[in-house]
Amino acid sequence: MIKFYVLLGPPGAGKGTQAAIIADVCGIPHISSGNIFRENLQLKTELGIKAKQFMDKGELVPDDITIGMVTDRLMKADCSGGALLDGFPRTPKQAEALSDFLSSINAEIACVPFINVEANELIERLSGRWTCKAEGHVFHTKYKLPKQEGICDYDGSPLYQREDDKKETVEQRIRVYFEKTAPLVKFYTEKEVLVEVDGALPIEEVTEALMKVINCQG
Ligand code: ADP
Ligand code: AMP
Repeated sequence: MIKFYVLLGPPGAGKGTQAAIIADVCGIPHISSGNIFRENLQLKTELGIKAKQFMDKGELVPDDITIGMVTDRLMKADCSGGALLDGFPRTPKQAEALSDFLSSINAEIACVPFINVEANELIERLSGRWTCKAEGHVFHTKYKLPKQEGICDYDGSPLYQREDDKKETVEQRIRVYFEKTAPLVKFYTEKEVLVEVDGALPIEEVTEALMKVINCQG
């Protein structure tokens, strides 16, 4: 059975940070719905322009648009051996659609690591986050400094502060998380695939815990 992993957790929990490391160390493709939306936005595609109105307000992009976009991406050849999903699913409808899609390709969700971090810590993380233009690699003014200020360590592209990382939008995104996405903790607990990981630990310790959970030796 082909194995997929879903990283669950509030905005700022460290999903993107950890997924990038794990993709590299464990050789599992990192699929981030937020990164796909932002790529579309940079390319000014119809999808990107439509998504922007929701993203700027800290709202979720409607399910039908998001589900189609992610399942199209998962059908590409690099995901034929599985993938690590970051930021998707974010609603029960997306979770059901993902289960249906995976059954149709003879794949399953092997495990859902839930990276848990308290709400007040999330605001500090997101307000200090700097993101790379090219591939969405993330840094932090206090917790993960780039080697050269303003430049991505991985690909040399410029770092910028995301429009939706302003305080008001961050607060809205956290509210939306508790209302729309937090129910997935119960959904995946009932499916016996959820494993909680303490996201308040330093980045390297969270990586270590996640690698154990997904059974990757590195
Ligand atoms: P998410 O993808 O869940 O929204 P990110 O991976 O982008 O979260 O992390 C949000 C911010 O917090 C980034 O600036 C990142 O460098 C920082 N960060 C991630 N994990 C930790 C950690 N364990 N401790 C401190 N800061 C972290
Ligand atoms: P992220 O990069 O995961 O922080 O996502 C940034 C923004 O993209 C979110 O605040 C949403 O507006 C949108 N987005 C990303 N993933 C999804 C999803 N699975 N469902 C709906 N909207 C999403």
